[in-house]
Amino acid sequence: MRAIRFEAGGVVKLVQVPKPEPGPEDVVVQVLAAGVCRTDLHLLDEVKAGTHAPIIPGHEIAGRIATIGADVYTAKVGDLVGVHFEQPCGRCRQCRRQRTNLCEDGTTLGFDAPGGYAEFVVAKQTTILPLPPNLDLAFAAPLGCSGATAYRAVVVLGQAEEEDLVVIIGAGGVGLSAVQISKAYNTRVFVIEPREEARKAALDSGADRAVGPGEARPVFRDFEADAGADVAIDFVGTKSTFDLGRSLLGPGGRFVAVAPGRETVDVAASDLVNGGKAYLGAYSSTMADFARAISLAEAGRLRPVVTRKGPLADAAEVLNDLRAGKIVGRAVLFPGPMDP
Ligand SMILES: [Zn+2]
Ligand SMILES: [Zn+2]
Repeated sequence: MRAIRFEAGGVVKLVQVPKPEPGPEDVVVQVLAAGVCRTDLHLLDEVKAGTHAPIIPGHEIAGRIATIGADVYTAKVGDLVGVHFEQPCGRCRQCRRQRTNLCEDGTTLGFDAPGGYAEFVVAKQTTILPLPPNLDLAFAAPLGCSGATAYRAVVVLGQAEEEDLVVIIGAGGVGLSAVQISKAYNTRVFVIEPREEARKAALDSGADRAVGPGEARPVFRDFEADAGADVAIDFVGTKSTFDLGRSLLGPGGRFVAVAPGRETVDVAASDLVNGGKAYLGAYSSTMADFARAISLAEAGRLRPVVTRKGPLADAAEVLNDLRAGKIVGRAVLFPGPMDP
């Protein structure tokens, strides 16, 4: 089968590799749509630096079941499914508590197991969900990472509720999904994003205001009359976005960090205690988050912003454009027929 592999030196190469076979509890999915996520760039950088082995990337996957293992009961050949990239072990302490995003012994498609930039991918039968027939596969693919991560940040950790004010810092693919999910919960949404095109996409996604980082504080004061945000979600992960996000929080506010930035930030205990605030880290997502993202998409409340589509062979060019900030929302690759 054809696949894209990140190779030594940081080369993005179209290769021929054997079609995978399923284990007894696995399914083989013919990949019909694969979302291109910013995390893929970090992975490519690691492969280039030699700190990560060459790998078939791709962790936002939608497709059709092609083959099933002998003990598979969750799907049959021909079913349209979304695939979650986390492949948890099902046995560790975290898995037993349904914290599969924190599994101690699992693999992750597109990171340490072959991913979705390929004609076929193997997944555990417990990591797929049926897709509603009304859902375009180009929108379904990003739900596994972008949609489920955004759901976890906004709803599970941010606990956004009706009439809350949600601040979204960074309107990339996940940030735009977070805008839509926040609006699905009848919140007000204030977006901070430097790129004008992405701000426009945020407004199209339902944001009440979208401003650049330089004007964020004064415009926010007018917008909120000093009450502060109930939820601030940082999709960028720098010291300046962390400081900006928490400075906008009101009493009882939740700050949710989604991007694993490495800059050190100063937090005094009084920052948390006074006003009863919470600082939370959103790591990956669970099947429950994924299921909710699919439900919101089925109901028309979540529609990932997809502005670029192409065949598998476009991967290198698409990744370059993503790095250059030229892609608003998501790009989606079609390893099978275009526009399945
Ligand atoms: Zn991702
Ligand atoms: Zn586990």
